[in-house]
Amino acid sequence: MRIGIFGGTFNPPHNGHKKLALEIKNKAELDRIIVMPTFTPPHKEGKELAGGEHRIRMCEMMFTEDFFSISDREIRRQGKSYTYDTLVELKKEYPDDELFLIIGSDMLLSFHTWFRYADILSMATLCVATREDRVDYKQLLDYSENVLGLGENEIIIADTEPYECSSTDVRRQLSSGNDASFMTGREIYDYVRLKLLYESPFSEQKKLLREKLDDYRFLHSLNVAESAASLARIYGADEKKAYFAGLLHDIMKNENDEEMLKCIEKGGIILSRTEKYNPKLWHAIAGECYLRTELGIIDEEILSAVRYHTTGKTGMSLFDKIIYVADYVSAERAYPDVDVMRRLSFEKGLDEACLYSLQYTLKALSEREGIIHEDSLDFYNELIINKGESYDRT
Ligand code: ATP
Repeated sequence: MRIGIFGGTFNPPHNGHKKLALEIKNKAELDRIIVMPTFTPPHKEGKELAGGEHRIRMCEMMFTEDFFSISDREIRRQGKSYTYDTLVELKKEYPDDELFLIIGSDMLLSFHTWFRYADILSMATLCVATREDRVDYKQLLDYSENVLGLGENEIIIADTEPYECSSTDVRRQLSSGNDASFMTGREIYDYVRLKLLYESPFSEQKKLLREKLDDYRFLHSLNVAESAASLARIYGADEKKAYFAGLLHDIMKNENDEEMLKCIEKGGIILSRTEKYNPKLWHAIAGECYLRTELGIIDEEILSAVRYHTTGKTGMSLFDKIIYVADYVSAERAYPDVDVMRRLSFEKGLDEACLYSLQYTLKALSEREGIIHEDSLDFYNELIINKGESYDRT
């Protein structure tokens, strides 16, 4: 068998890793690939470096095809993860198989500094894929010939389009609160966020939310925060504040009725008749109260956006509308018209998007004989009147 060994920090794994592995599999005609995250000492783990168990779990999510297996060998072995030691062990375990070492071109160019690199070359064939535009095929061949002493047939170089992405790029996106799922896929992205693995904005509030919300609601809140920030960017509102309000909009959603009512009472709000009969509306009202009384938030824009994110109301500000719409278009939403709704919100304007979501919600509520809050009806009427198409005389 031809076995590839693909080591790395995988902190976290991304599409560049996957592309490298698949290209080398084809080029070197490998039968299987062992993906092996390196050990990192526990004292180094933290906001920049995820623990070994997490990196293993994320590799399982990234490398799903049958020919991949994920190995915790180096993590178990602890100490510095020398490829030489790993290959000696693997040579003993697979005496009749051919071993191939998979690396990106950046790694090749410093290969002569690796511990016992000549012994590594005697145990495994190097397989390299270009990682950056700057590094060309000829440069890699020159290096392997002149520095490593390898003939053209003693190294495998996949000279394909580089995929310029790194784990550092992923972590950088996360730390600015931007969606990084296009580099990792959604499953890993959600895992990273659920486990609070890397630096990201408002980490204190996220820790609190993690305690108060279930997994689904927590991810929803993060997604609404991201959508709100994107909408704020488009429509000229404060992105950071929109992210913050989106993040906290459902903070009371998983509380029981009694807790919500207590919080509403503490916030000094008296429920209207419609609200009393509709517990589904309480989390938004309780949310505003919680932000004010427990978190000491006094920014009226944030408080209002949280309070009216479910019903809407007349006279919604730009900021209110951003949070209202973000809640409908967040990344995990999958209702039938979500694409139309996304297009309207990002291309046609917030009023069009609000109207569309109101039509959808009001229809669904009336069909199941749910109670409709007057604020939603007023909001709907206001949008129609403002549109100037109000006088249907038929
Ligand atoms: P970091 O940004 O944290 O340094 P990284 O993205 O370089 O991480 P590693 O886990 O250190 O990822 O890399 C493992 C292996 O994958 C290395 O051999 C590296 O050269 C290769 N590699 C990483 N990203 C790419 C990519 N986009 N294209 C090709 N090879 C890659």
